Amino acid sequence: MNISETERENHHQVKTAMQNLDRIISDRHQNPPVPFEAFLKTMVEKPHQVLRNVFQVFYDMVKTYVEEGEDEYPDDPESIHFVNYDCTELFVEGSDHPFFADRLFANRFIEQVESLRRGTQQNKIYIFDGPPGCGKSTFLNNLLMKFEEYTKTDDGSRYESVWRLDRNLLCRLVAEESVPLYDKVVQVMAQAPSEQQTDENDEDSNRPFLSFDQANGHDLQETVPFDDAFIDVPCPSHDHPIVMIPKHYRRKFLDDLLSNDEFKWKLFTEKEYEWIFRDPSCTICSSIYWALLRRLKNPLEVFRMLYARPYQFNRRLGEGISVFNPGDRPMRQNIMGNPVLQNRINNLLRDSNQVKYIFSRYAKTNNGIYALMDIKSHNVERLIELHNIISEGVHKVEDIEENVNSLLMALMNPEDKKNVQNLQSFSDRIEYINIPHVLDLNTEIAIYRNIFGKHRIFSASISMKVFCPGCCIILRVSSFQRG
Ligand SMILES: [Zn+2]
Repeated sequence: MNISETERENHHQVKTAMQNLDRIISDRHQNPPVPFEAFLKTMVEKPHQVLRNVFQVFYDMVKTYVEEGEDEYPDDPESIHFVNYDCTELFVEGSDHPFFADRLFANRFIEQVESLRRGTQQNKIYIFDGPPGCGKSTFLNNLLMKFEEYTKTDDGSRYESVWRLDRNLLCRLVAEESVPLYDKVVQVMAQAPSEQQTDENDEDSNRPFLSFDQANGHDLQETVPFDDAFIDVPCPSHDHPIVMIPKHYRRKFLDDLLSNDEFKWKLFTEKEYEWIFRDPSCTICSSIYWALLRRLKNPLEVFRMLYARPYQFNRRLGEGISVFNPGDRPMRQNIMGNPVLQNRINNLLRDSNQVKYIFSRYAKTNNGIYALMDIKSHNVERLIELHNIISEGVHKVEDIEENVNSLLMALMNPEDKKNVQNLQSFSDRIEYINIPHVLDLNTEIAIYRNIFGKHRIFSASISMKVFCPGCCIILRVSSFQRG
């Protein structure tokens, strides 16, 4: 093989590898926004999956990874009916630092997750408390990792709203409004004789109105280049597209849309779906909706500019999942915005302050998870702020109200409880879930197996005490040998 042949071969390999990479990444990560109507079609096909809030997705995630255990003593009146859940896939698999949930904790955890989905416990902060060394932070890290992983699968994906503002259409409408009435009359009169003979196409080309730029004295192209033909305005609060429909019309709309089956019955009667009829869209989305309706004068036209795209969770970017450590300093700037986008919106809607594109950091985890690692230092302030927000239901960003519907979690050492004990009404907003030191032997053996490897587990377990350290019950030798 001569040099040029080798070069050609290398070139070919590089090209093939790059093309394959491009295809794989495009397939996996490119989920372009779909028009609202296409989104509705998906919703009709799989309403259970599309109509979910963060609590329902969280529940589905846990149910996907935790195998339903069985109650070995269903008829025993003395049994406490703790089910043997297998949490390996949720807390162990794929993790560098596995967390071994014992039976007691697994049952407590699943019970809380179920009440979360039912919608009875959503206005709370879930605090997992336990002594140092019980694996709290491993538990939370693994849980969040699995949640993020699940949201990237087909079963776990959800939609959020993005407005795609049609510049050509909106510029034309603004221009029409801004041409003085006298000019309009003159123009219409000048057009009048020819209009009778022209067909629709000609009528379009003889449009008496100026483009927005012409009306404003700019001699620019009448049509905007395609790339700039749309301005995408994503909802910073990750609102579900269904809440873009004004509240009063949602019930009737969903009644028309969905067929009469079990799901629809659940949707209209069960508490877990109340959010669909209760939650308003964020102030940014609702102001865009009303501004567009004023311009377009037709709700259907407004919904043509509404798109749905998958909610991309990314803990490292703080999108959908944020975890704060006690040492993380409070941000200097509490109010966020996007001046470039704000400028473009203002230019397009020609009405300053109709849409204020500002939001707080809580918006980024709205419909997602907000977590605090240990209630110390700056996290005490964060916890108090969170508590005030969920007590009120909303908080203010400048003069705008912002909703916070997130799954709120925190970890706590027993000695840190004093940091929050003095706060009034704190207890009814907080749900404590205790993570004990591992109490059952099977779980303890699983931990040893992870540390020492499978073959050394026997010698490791031989040296273990037969007494359970937590409750001083002698454990049966049979379960001892199972490890
Ligand atoms: Zn919104």
